[in-house]
Amino acid sequence: MASIAKAVEQTLKSGLVRFQAFVNGAWIDAKDRRTFSVTNPADGSHLGDVPDMTTDDARSAIDAAYEAKREWAKRTSKERSGLLRRWFDLVRRNRDDLARIITAEQGKPLNEAKGEVDYGASFIEWYSEEAKRVYGDVLPSVSTSKRLFVLKEPVGVAALITPWNFPFSMVLRKASAALAAGCTAVVKPAEDTPLCALALAKLAEDAGIPAGVYNTITCSRDNVAGVGEMLAASEKIAMVSFTGSTAVGKLLLKHCASNVTKVSMELGGQAAFIVFDSADADAAVEGAANAKFRNAGQACIAANRFLVQEGIHDLFCEKLKVAMEKLFVGNGFEEGVTVGPLINQRAAEKVMAHVTDAISKGGKVLCGGDFHHLGRTFFKPTLLSHCTVDMLPAREETFGPIIPVFKFKTEEEALKMANSTQYGLASYFYSTDFSQIWRVAESLECGVVGVNEGSVTTEVAPFGGVKQSGIGKEGSKYGIEEFLHTKYICMGNIRPGK
Ligand code: ADP
Repeated sequence: MASIAKAVEQTLKSGLVRFQAFVNGAWIDAKDRRTFSVTNPADGSHLGDVPDMTTDDARSAIDAAYEAKREWAKRTSKERSGLLRRWFDLVRRNRDDLARIITAEQGKPLNEAKGEVDYGASFIEWYSEEAKRVYGDVLPSVSTSKRLFVLKEPVGVAALITPWNFPFSMVLRKASAALAAGCTAVVKPAEDTPLCALALAKLAEDAGIPAGVYNTITCSRDNVAGVGEMLAASEKIAMVSFTGSTAVGKLLLKHCASNVTKVSMELGGQAAFIVFDSADADAAVEGAANAKFRNAGQACIAANRFLVQEGIHDLFCEKLKVAMEKLFVGNGFEEGVTVGPLINQRAAEKVMAHVTDAISKGGKVLCGGDFHHLGRTFFKPTLLSHCTVDMLPAREETFGPIIPVFKFKTEEEALKMANSTQYGLASYFYSTDFSQIWRVAESLECGVVGVNEGSVTTEVAPFGGVKQSGIGKEGSKYGIEEFLHTKYICMGNIRPGK
């Protein structure tokens, strides 16, 4: 335990841990000097206090980004690319400190946190390159006297509201694309995990990104409704990119309606993980562990409902139980830990409620099934069989380390179950039947499909959902489009030569 305390202490001493917001190139407090505290979810220890900003502070940050936007948009894409590359280099150089900040405020195992730093960095690298490839078009004209062009222009100021489950990479997935496109940004990280976002602001400053281009404000849950409304309803904000719950996404959409502000939204998920009889059971078990236990199941693409065909059902459950018994629950700083704490007690209580509901309706606990003795934020990896569609895990996103298994007979039945949700973010399935692979991949109503693969995210692929899982894409060549306008120019009166 002493070594964990030392790791946390070492993290806090890192020059990257900042307890002030970053606006217009300056490190500042809230105007009313109020703060809120940031804690370590593993033990509730206090990591520090950050500004509890209000709508007034948010307005100043928006003004700064608005002032800076003209100059930033005028820079050549090569200049913007160079600055992003410097930011990327600094992130890479500070990988270990950044990973420790993630583990300290978010809880995930240190190895996973390092993976998150690499994943986040990959977006800066990718968009530092994409910045130079924002092409327009010359269109074939319909008239000899006209020439037709398409320009791509930055939309303006982007408000980026990010979640606590990937507190580092979600900031970068949005901010890199925004800055590469020529937009300026106001980042508002989740109240549970502001330190990652502030560390990124420090590195952006060190990289020489000009004042006002990249701003980060923090606020508590008490102030977030006002700050959120200020960001989404301001006439100076051209675009809101949000990752979080569907409920808050809908609220922000309402605010954005007032100025018809552009949005990109990554909302909730209810991923199905389907194992067909023809599947390779070992590959499916490995994929299930990847798709479920990363970040203790706290991911919007985490598999939430495991649909297993009757012929492979018992074998899959047996093998999965053996694999799950090898998972090691503990403080993310402890060597070998594979499942850290949940973000807070409320989150762990929700997981308990899902398990209790499943048991009360006939679910059988094959392993786990309760809080872990380490504390009320820790939950035992849990395998439940005999699950039915009336149980909570079938209807709501669990966001925790539980695997509810639903037995099915036919492909048609599995597809019906998989698609019978308001969400449509990710789905996974395992099959070795070539025709079935195409049939199922094309029938799943979602934005991301893993076929014989439980780990699907990368900076080169578009991420985003359908139905109530969101609007728009992040990452890849598609992600930068969210931050661009398509402007058509028609030049007329071009006369033929004599
Ligand atoms: P969760 O319930 O998982 O914390 P939320 O959707 O509440 O997910 O949070 C995602 C992000 O949205 C966080 O940055 C949070 O501070 C922010 N947020 C929460 N409520 C609002 C709101 N009313 N307006 C704007 N942002 C909000």
